[in-house]
Amino acid sequence: MDRVLSARCSLFVILVFSSCAQRESFVSVDYTVMGTSARVIIPRGKRVLADSAYAQMLLVDSLMSIWKSGTELSRLNSAGAMRLSQPTLRCVEIALTAARETGGAFDPTVGPLVHAWGFDSDDPHTPDPESLELAKGLVSWQNVRIEGDSVILGPGQRLDLGGVAKGFALDLAAAKLLELGCESFLVEIGGDMLCYGQKGNQPWIIGIRDPANPSGIIGTMSIRGGKGAAICTSGDYERFVEIDGKRYSHIMDPRNGEPARGVVSVTLIGDRGAALADAMATGLFVMGPEEGIPLAGSLGIKAMFIYYDGDTLATARTWDFPEVTR
Ligand code: ADP
Ligand code: MG
Repeated sequence: MDRVLSARCSLFVILVFSSCAQRESFVSVDYTVMGTSARVIIPRGKRVLADSAYAQMLLVDSLMSIWKSGTELSRLNSAGAMRLSQPTLRCVEIALTAARETGGAFDPTVGPLVHAWGFDSDDPHTPDPESLELAKGLVSWQNVRIEGDSVILGPGQRLDLGGVAKGFALDLAAAKLLELGCESFLVEIGGDMLCYGQKGNQPWIIGIRDPANPSGIIGTMSIRGGKGAAICTSGDYERFVEIDGKRYSHIMDPRNGEPARGVVSVTLIGDRGAALADAMATGLFVMGPEEGIPLAGSLGIKAMFIYYDGDTLATARTWDFPEVTR
């Protein structure tokens, strides 16, 4: 799904740790999907079910990638209007919900901007003012209509579900595991995670990567999976684009047509599914902590921002974000 934007593209912002006792009863099965790593952590006795979860991740990629020709999303983008399968339609609905909730900071019609900046090519560049204005004019989630099972795009629009599809794949993978009778597990794609229940008799222990030193962590936090806790991160310290030696985020600010600035990463914890959490992380990244913290609080999302305050790195979090223990 994700286009490789830099050599250091393996988006693996959060790590999972396990104690020896827990390691005995759970097994981690590693995969690759959407150009990044994925894994399923599952009770050892249910190991055989991991492949069914992975099949759901592959399904989402095969339907919604815009990097592969012939996927349902690519065909919608060529046709401008199309009847969609239930998973793709559902993912579009969630993307539009995130767009509404973030006032357009997350916008799945951002494709023309990504294209204007050449972030979808091997030649990223600053667009000339004319093409930038043209692209900005096409970015508007309000112009996407859903009628029955069909999605109708505005003239010249293209849908890009890159900011939501990883989370959506986690939701489908989790639904499959639940359907097969597994109640405690963690699924992960490229650092975004969805966990259910507990790891043995313990909460899940999640590490947050240190932006100043990506091989280290700033600390760990305990998460109770319950009936589904999504932990999603949007960050620019592993995925970024360079133009003339200057580093740009791969996330666009649809409001000014430029790559988003200021935030290093947003990690959020939500209980409304991983797709929405994935998209909201991207939206909050664009909004920044000043706007993003009050919004997250009002939506019951726990969020932590790492951002630049002048030249120094600072953190801001909602009051209910779990304690990060060093
Ligand atoms: P991150 O995990 O850092 O949030 P994602 O892969 O989830 O990164 O989302 C980034 C992708 O989302 C981009 O590659 C692009 O396809 C798309 N995107 C970029 N900016 C936006 C935006 N403002 N709203 C929605 N999608 C975006
Ligand atoms: Mg994301």
